[in-house]
Formats: sequence, C-alpha cells, structure tokens
Amino acid sequence: MSTVKDYQLWINGQFVPAVAGETFESVNPFTGEPVARVPRGKKADIDKAVAAARQAFDEGRWPRMSGEERSRILKDIGEKMDAASAQLLSVMIAESGSTVRKAKGEVWLSAKNMGYFAKLAAQSLEKPIEALSRPGVSKNVLRREPIGVCAQIIPWNFPLQMAIWKLGPALAAGNTVVLKPAEETPAMALELAQILADSELPPGVVNIVSGYGEEAGAALAAHPDVDKIAFTGSTEIGKKLMAEAAHDLKRVTLELGGKSANIIMDDADLSQAVDGALYAAFFHSGQCCTAGTRLFLQDGIYDEFLKRFTERAKHIHLGNPAEKSTDLGPLVSKKQQERVLQHIAAGKKEGATCLLGGQAPTAPELQDGYFVEPTIFVDVTNDMAIAREEIFGPVVSVLRFKTEAEAVKLANASQYGLAGAVWSQDSEKALRVAQQLRAGTVWINEYHLINEKAPFGGYKQSGLGRELGEDALDEYTEVKHIHIDEIGDRSKKFWYDAVSAPAPQPA
Ligand code: ADP
Repeated sequence: MSTVKDYQLWINGQFVPAVAGETFESVNPFTGEPVARVPRGKKADIDKAVAAARQAFDEGRWPRMSGEERSRILKDIGEKMDAASAQLLSVMIAESGSTVRKAKGEVWLSAKNMGYFAKLAAQSLEKPIEALSRPGVSKNVLRREPIGVCAQIIPWNFPLQMAIWKLGPALAAGNTVVLKPAEETPAMALELAQILADSELPPGVVNIVSGYGEEAGAALAAHPDVDKIAFTGSTEIGKKLMAEAAHDLKRVTLELGGKSANIIMDDADLSQAVDGALYAAFFHSGQCCTAGTRLFLQDGIYDEFLKRFTERAKHIHLGNPAEKSTDLGPLVSKKQQERVLQHIAAGKKEGATCLLGGQAPTAPELQDGYFVEPTIFVDVTNDMAIAREEIFGPVVSVLRFKTEAEAVKLANASQYGLAGAVWSQDSEKALRVAQQLRAGTVWINEYHLINEKAPFGGYKQSGLGRELGEDALDEYTEVKHIHIDEIGDRSKKFWYDAVSAPAPQPA
C-alpha cells in the first residue's frame, strides 16, 4: 500500500481545510492507488480566496512594490523550486504518470521559466511615447499596469509548468492570483504552495484552491471580483469560460486544444524525421496540446517512412513511469484511457486502418495502469473524426499528400491552429510551408521545443492570447496613456472654446 499524503488549501498565506471539510483523492495512474488527499474546494472556499486576492491587490504591497523587488522574490522562488526538485519530481511521477525523463525536464524547465519571469519583472513597465511628446506641448507616457485578480485554471498534463506559465507573468506584472489545479493533479500545485509559502510573497498574492472543475472552477470563473480568467484545457471548457467572462467583460487568455500537422516532405532527412515524428506523436503518451497527431507524408517517401516509423513505434517501451527505462507511462486517469479507446473505436468504425496498437496493452504488469498502446492509423481522410478531434493519447493519423500546396491545404483544414512542423532539407521550401500554416508555433526539422522567450498560443479554436515571451506580460497588464500638459497658457487652448461657459464675475 502506498502512503496517502494530506494537503490543505493555501488561502491568504495560511494552509486551511475546505469550509465544508470535504476532501477527494488523487490517484497514481500506474497503480490505481490514491497518492494524495486534498480539500474539495467549493464556492465558499473560492469566495475566501478571491477576497484575499482582492485585498492583496487593492491594499497590499505586491502591486505597489518596484519591479526589481518583485523580480528578487520571483527569482528566489525559482531557486527554491530547483532546491525542491526531488520532491516535486516524485509527486509529479506518482500523481500524473509522467515518466522520469518527462518529469525531470518539466521540473527543471518550470524553475527556469520562473527565473525568466523574474527577469521580466525587473523591466520597466513605463516608457515615454516618443512619437507623441513635444517639449512645450506635452509629455506622453505609456504605462502597463496589472489587471487585478487573476483566476488561473490549469490542466493535468504539465501540472507544474502550466502553473508557472500562468503565475510567472501574472506576478511579474503585479497581479494577484487564485489558481485552481486540475482534479487529477492537485498535489502538484499544493506542493508548489509549500514553496511559495516559504518565499517572501505577501499573504493573499497567490491562493491555491483544489477542487472539481464544475464546482471550484466554475465558481472562480463566475466570481464578480475576478478581473481576468487564464485557462489551459479543452476547447469545450474554454468556450464556456469565454461566455462566462462576457458577463462582466473579464479579460481572457485561453490555451486550448490542438490537432497539429506534422508534414514530412519527400526531401526530408528521413532518419531525423522518423525520430521527430515519434517524439511529436508519442511524447508523454500524446498528452500534449501540441502533439503532432496528423502525420502528413509525401507520396515519394510514404511507404519507406511508414515502414520505419511503425517499426520504431513497435519498440516503444511502456512501463512504470518511475523507472528510467520507460518510454511511455500510463494516461492520467481511467476516464482519459476510456476516452482515447473510444476515439480509437470510432476511427476503426469510420473505415481507417489500425496499423499498430489500438488497445490497452495485455502485459500482466501493466494491468493496474491506464495504458493505451502507441497507435497508428492509415487510410485516414481529413474529414474523419480521428483526423479532426483532439484525442490526447498516443494515437497518430497518417495522411498522404502529393504536392506542397495540397499539404498546406490539408494541414490548415482544421478547427485548430496551435502548432505544426515541416521536415525538408530545402530550407526555402520549408520556410514557405511554415509561413502558410495557420498555427501559433511552427517547427522546421524539429518538434515540441517551446522557448520561454517566444510567445506560445493558438490560432482559431486553439485559443486566444499568448503565454511566454514578453507577450505574456501584455496579457496580464492594462495599458494606460498619461498625457502631461506643457502648454499651460489658456489662450492657446482653442479646444476649450467648444465649451465656452463664461467664468463667474467677482461679486
Ligand atoms: P480535461 O477534460 O482534459 O480534464 P478540462 O478542460 O475539462 O480538460 O479541464 C481543464 C481544467 O479546467 C481543470 O482544472 C478542470 O477542473 C477545469 N474545469 C473543468 N470544467 C470547468 C468549468 N465548468 N469551469 C471552470 N473550470 C473547469
């Protein structure tokens, strides 16, 4: 029996149980056993957390301190995350089924990303508008100011990094936050709360409330004292939150689903491209919004590529995510495993041919885990559900194309536009294709690499707004123009004549 660790909500700098005293458990997806017991936050807990964040914003030091001061505190948080990496790693592996390699990368990058946002915090958010300012006429200043209380709702696939991508820019700009982690991975966020609690963040600047989406999440998004909703998750819930935000015009950023095209041209370096396509489709068992799930192969290399790709996919090692030799761990939950198997069944029914996988593995040592075998479909057309819908599992649809123009057309025939890639040794051609793809990130001869200095986000129904890079700060600030008059002389201000109310005569 594994031990179950108890956690509390983190509200106004205190660790507290839920108001109603209820809890729920998160489960190890490899063993099916509980790993953490966390409070089931509901509206009453959200009310407390939002009130704390509101007060910290309206009256507290955080939005008013200098950027340098905030930068110092955020840098220290990044360093504390690094120091706690062993603990963060073990919780991530146990609770989310992330493999050692994926979890190591995520913990390291999350701490590094926090360091990047710390640097951004030190930048001045105020600058003159040179084009407008004229001595003797006016001085003009552009100020970026924090928006206020930010509701941040995050998913389970990258449970630490998604928290940092949201907290980092929000805090750098001086906002306060209520964060709700996914119900599958609440312990990860509450471990982070321990680190934040040991930092110099004033009480109420960050509050973390575990709970279910339709309870805590919905109450948070609907709260009238929340100024902004930042969400990463399904397109379905993203649309709901945008509609919710419309009631009081909350600011919104949404990072939603994807069905990214990975295009392999005839002149690609095949050995590189095969590796890249395996990584694109199967990294983290396909539980990535950027996953390269539509693999477009040009006629000339179709057979050879597919042969090599399938052969390699057969040797992907499924196993205990805590063991270093494991390539793919289980999916995050039974619900997710069932969803993926349903998508696979629908693909078969639609007439696609399942070339590899297509089921939960039969090996006895994998029976307690929520595994799905790496699955390759061929004879897929772009109108089939398996080529249109986000599956979020290790399932790739292979499609054939003849010309560059056809590849671009098929790749863009999707409701999504998060990412994509093109593999070719002709750099001009590759760039030409990349420019035509309607997606927020496009890799050439590479996949999945996301850099903290570059904006990340989606076209079309993949989202709204950008995370990372300096663009992320824009998403967490309002822009203010301050006009400072230098004319002074009333007689030169002819525009005042539009209201020519005479001055009262002295009595
Ligand atoms: P998935 O189906 O993969 O779990 P979701 O989009 O449902 O993806 O979940 C992503 C995040 O959104 C989670 O933190 C979840 O709790 C939250 N969530 C789900 N439903 C709602 C909702 N109605 N309102 C607010 N948050 C929600």
